[in-house]
Amino acid sequence: MPEVCRFAPSTTGSAHPGTLLAGLLAWLDARSRGARFVLRLEDLDPERCQPVFATQMLEDLRWFGLDWDLLEQQSRHAVGHQAALLQLVHAGRVYRCNCSRAQIKAHGLPGADGGYAYPNLCRPNVVTPTNFAAPGVLRVRLDEGEISAQDESGQSLSQNPSTALGDPVVRRRDGAFAYNFAVVVDDGRIGVTRVVRGRDIAPSTATQVILQRLLALPTPTYRHHLLLLEERGDKLAKLHGAIGVRALRAQYTAAELCGVLAQGAGLNPEGKPLMPRALLAGFAWERVPSFDQTLRVEGGRLYWR
Ligand code: GLU
Repeated sequence: MPEVCRFAPSTTGSAHPGTLLAGLLAWLDARSRGARFVLRLEDLDPERCQPVFATQMLEDLRWFGLDWDLLEQQSRHAVGHQAALLQLVHAGRVYRCNCSRAQIKAHGLPGADGGYAYPNLCRPNVVTPTNFAAPGVLRVRLDEGEISAQDESGQSLSQNPSTALGDPVVRRRDGAFAYNFAVVVDDGRIGVTRVVRGRDIAPSTATQVILQRLLALPTPTYRHHLLLLEERGDKLAKLHGAIGVRALRAQYTAAELCGVLAQGAGLNPEGKPLMPRALLAGFAWERVPSFDQTLRVEGGRLYWR
């Protein structure tokens, strides 16, 4: 069976340099192993995702020199999400959650993702196949216990998800399927065998693994990579909004921008202009630093710190 890798950017906004770096690393990983490469636009958030962001994302990724074997839009697969939800409802795992964000915060349980863990308060409100469709937040009851998982880089992803983050939301108040649930269902349907993504999502991996087990889906190999940070005052923040790819395109050719980003990824020491395919021959994860890289944006151009 051929390997299947995917890149799954959210279309909640325009692409930024971090989007391109994540796309480049996932693409290099896939293409260097002869794997099938799937681009999945994650557009489930009805408030933040706009069709124009999806169109621009495709155009920016093509301009940058990436290609894919299959293009998917997550919102077109609601039938699969609904069927998986029903499977968990039948198993007696799904409950309605009436807790507000403020209530969850008031419990003060630190979450593995830097937020607050859900204290699993509404577990008694189990839904049935006849009443689960009514609007409201739905969560899945997880079993207690450690899920052991390892990143391909050797880093531990092990966790007890039922306490580290609490029972995950599967369907949100606005009716949209939640990220952790949809990602598992769609990776399963597509037959994804390798997940390459930013290390900010690593704390959710154990939750995704436990959901895979509940849905009888296989667990892919995981590889979490460095993030791009930007200097904001004396703080470092994940690079978002500082500059979009559209603005960078006014300053850089695709090869120039790829050269700069590949330099930060340890794959192009001199930062010389080159297209993604020129990086294939020399690509190896051992060359990619595991620590985040910081950029300064000045006059519409990027500089490494
Ligand atoms: N859609 C997520 C994001 O853009 C990534 C999902 C994933 O790779 O699992 O951050």
